[in-house]
Amino acid sequence: MTVREHGFKAEVQQLLNLMIHSVYSDREVFLRELISNAADALDKVRFMELTRKDLNAAEDPERLAVRLILDAENKTLTLEDDGIGMTEDEVMANLGTIARSGTRAFLEQLGEEQDAPQLIGQFGLGFYSAFMVAEEVTVDTRSGEPGSEAVRWISRGEGTYEVEASERTHRGTSIRLKLREDASEYLEVARLRHAVSRHSNFLPWPIDVDGEQANSGKALWLESASSVKDEEADAFYRSVAMDWQPPALRVHVQVDSPLQYAALLFIPSQRPMDLFHPDMKK
Ligand code: ADP
Ligand code: MG
Repeated sequence: MTVREHGFKAEVQQLLNLMIHSVYSDREVFLRELISNAADALDKVRFMELTRKDLNAAEDPERLAVRLILDAENKTLTLEDDGIGMTEDEVMANLGTIARSGTRAFLEQLGEEQDAPQLIGQFGLGFYSAFMVAEEVTVDTRSGEPGSEAVRWISRGEGTYEVEASERTHRGTSIRLKLREDASEYLEVARLRHAVSRHSNFLPWPIDVDGEQANSGKALWLESASSVKDEEADAFYRSVAMDWQPPALRVHVQVDSPLQYAALLFIPSQRPMDLFHPDMKK
């Protein structure tokens, strides 16, 4: 595969400019977004493996995880996952265009209000939020689909991205962020551990920071309802729903017979911005 340069769609570039010139102070949402994508990719693998035995293997199939790897010397932060990965077509479709209704709703809202920093935190802005802290982003990915080749995607967020062959050998994705001068705080282990426990504590996959698990990964819905603290439940709600406000109501359901199951239901305090968008998928 040779190196090929592609241009971003206009709406992507609009979003990227916003990220690059963002003065938003709570920039660490980029971590929540990239980790949530990694967890989604792991969820997809878990689901597909129920019916398929032929998927490309992870490096260590015994412990599927998300790993944050710091390199202070080269000023890079890498997020790696053992998830489903992407084929070349998927890379082009997912990282070059805006498919999701939430992001489109964000851009529409932005046109009216011009209150970008506030809105960045409210909407899950996904992958592109990496450009709030990175001057260059390199994605190496290999799909779980047998026979698919590893792909590399590189961009500085300035109009174009490049796609070329990658040397990645196992299934999954690694995203290397060349951090901006003013984002060196994300090279500190303690800073990252704090951010992970703040935004991603309850994700059901291990999230390692420099080799050590940083999230609790505990299933709150399996604890007895009386032992779950409000703050804990609210933090869980916020991390799953990507809401910045506490929920209006929480219902904890635990059923023992004839089937055993447990659930935590939350009612948001405000309706989602895209609730009445016809293409909303949730
Ligand atoms: P969303 O997660 O809401 O779909 P994002 O901008 O966060 O939007 O991500 C866009 C898409 O890129 C995802 O839906 C997914 O298909 C793909 N993607 C991003 N990160 C990963 C990853 N780590 N592994 C596999 N696919 C990914
Ligand atoms: Mg996402």
